[in-house]
Amino acid sequence: MRSLLVSLALAATLGGVTAAAAQSYPARPITMVVPFAAGGPVDTIARIIAVPMGKTLNQTVVVENTTGAAGTIGVGRVARAAPDGYTLSIGHWSTHVINGAIYPLQYDLLRDLEPLGMIATNPLLIVANPAVPAKDLKELVAWLKANPGKASLGTAGVGSASHMGGLNFQNATGTEFQYIPYRGTGPALQDLIGGHIQFMVDQASNSLPQVRGGKIRAYAVTAKSRLAAAPDIPTVDEAGLPGLYISVWYGIWAPRGTPRVIVDRLNAAIVAALADTAVRQKLADLGQEIPPREQQSPEGLGALQKAEIEKWWPIVKAAGIKPE
Ligand code: ASP
Repeated sequence: MRSLLVSLALAATLGGVTAAAAQSYPARPITMVVPFAAGGPVDTIARIIAVPMGKTLNQTVVVENTTGAAGTIGVGRVARAAPDGYTLSIGHWSTHVINGAIYPLQYDLLRDLEPLGMIATNPLLIVANPAVPAKDLKELVAWLKANPGKASLGTAGVGSASHMGGLNFQNATGTEFQYIPYRGTGPALQDLIGGHIQFMVDQASNSLPQVRGGKIRAYAVTAKSRLAAAPDIPTVDEAGLPGLYISVWYGIWAPRGTPRVIVDRLNAAIVAALADTAVRQKLADLGQEIPPREQQSPEGLGALQKAEIEKWWPIVKAAGIKPE
């Protein structure tokens, strides 16, 4: 009798969450962990999507910034959280793919996280403080070559998208400069505007508002085509560094073991947010592209993340990039 009760209790439990709790989900606010500083690209997209997700779920989705080590601290917090749908991880190509090839992580990016849906993708912009005496990309490369080791480039830490963008640029140009790590490209961009660092290879969504405001200068976009949101910025092909493409895709994950009914509710909230006209407009203005509906699914994000790990880990490991 006792063992029957135990197995009944177990049957009613889904990954540590009771079936009743899963059905009444969400009964309290949900935390979405941004693994970088406030004001940066991940933070911005989290804040754009959290409000409409909360409306669909009838609960507040609170954005929390847990920063450090190129996002590994924040992602680790979610990987270890209870799989009950109340702690989510928002991140992208570098936090959920590249970091696994660089850091000795205390979690497994595939085994410990449950994909919920892909949300957006954007390329990088090569940008500089206007005091840099280069009018175009070729002049920027010539200036860096004339001043080896003098200029500094801001990043969000070793392995972050902005660091990978800088490395890619350095490999293609044979230039020498210093890398300055920040807790996110939000603070790095502030230092770029202030002239404390000279340039960045930054996500378009982060830099575009400052480019439009004339605070920084954009030399090129790391994509095959120009951004609809900024058609005057040339592509790397046009500006003289052909093929220097990088695009940073975003997704949202829950801890592995989250019950399927909760995964489905969260995915439905993501899909509804991405269908919202105001959200689409805000993302488009920032140069973010929304993926097709099938990629917004847990399976779509899972397949993309796995394929990207298979593609990038050998490249990053061969490059021998070490955490600081
Ligand atoms: N992940 C971003 C980057 O390196 C940084 C941030 O979101 O602050 O581009």
